Amino acid sequence: MIIAQTIAQVRQNITDARQKGKVIGLVPTMGGLHQGHYSLIRRCVEECDYTAVSIFVNPTQFAPGEDLKGYPRTFEADSEGCKDLDADLIFAPASEEIYPGQGTDPSDPLTWIHVEKVTSHLCGTSRPGHFRGVCTVVAKLFNIIQPDIAYFGQKDAQQLAVIRQMTKDLNFPIEIIGCPIVREKDGLAMSTRNKYLDSEQRKQALCLNKALKRAEEMIVAGQKNCQPVIDEMTKVIQQYPQAKVDYISIVDSDLLQPVTRIVPPVLIALAVQVGPARLIDNILVVPTDKKQ
Ligand code: AMP
Repeated sequence: MIIAQTIAQVRQNITDARQKGKVIGLVPTMGGLHQGHYSLIRRCVEECDYTAVSIFVNPTQFAPGEDLKGYPRTFEADSEGCKDLDADLIFAPASEEIYPGQGTDPSDPLTWIHVEKVTSHLCGTSRPGHFRGVCTVVAKLFNIIQPDIAYFGQKDAQQLAVIRQMTKDLNFPIEIIGCPIVREKDGLAMSTRNKYLDSEQRKQALCLNKALKRAEEMIVAGQKNCQPVIDEMTKVIQQYPQAKVDYISIVDSDLLQPVTRIVPPVLIALAVQVGPARLIDNILVVPTDKKQ
């Protein structure tokens, strides 16, 4: 497995692989890898001839005051994990490799990718500028690595929808694959930010999954209106004193616009601050005939 820190090294390796006719897959990550990330990498290795994993804590998707500095960086363990899964290349650039002016020129870059509408609710509202940073770095990674297929987790459902939209609108010749959420045994969605939780907060973090389960129960029992579901989810979260709701929303699964009636497919998404960690989770409610 190659560990590349420069764009030139990546281009050289990818050109070689492409000349051999290999199908190239990309799994973009910010490191702090866990089984959620590894599920994407595993799938990429299964479906592609060449697996590139990027590990880059992207500064432009963090707002001032967010956790850029303290974000877990576990490169040694991450690279061991990628190697064990037979990934071919890790791209782990320094910030200046991606944003050459960062540090000296705060206006770097001057070109941004902004996806409209799909970013207008959910995390787009509570983290202004976040998806602009995500799209810009993913577009750069797409141009640097030029994968045939790229893998993203449904855990970050809005990110996945935004990247699909960007890929379509900008004609990137890349297939975007969404992968299911990997959870801990007790239902907590795996996240690098779970590391911020102490043992009491870890217990309270279960409120996200509990609220989603309650929503699912209500929908299965025939509830068709969104507001009672949102109210009930809010009540569930309120039972946990260290949890503070950022948003609970029900949106259509394509452009992520709020809906009032539950007509599948819809996405039920929430963000909750639990102690130091801002956690997100979601479920996709699909038409009953599409359930596996
Ligand atoms: P991150 O390193 O948090 O930016 O995540 C990198 C990729 O891994 C994104 O596409 C995430 O959606 C995905 N991912 C993170 N956590 C999970 C999870 N629990 N299950 C599935 N995919 C995940």
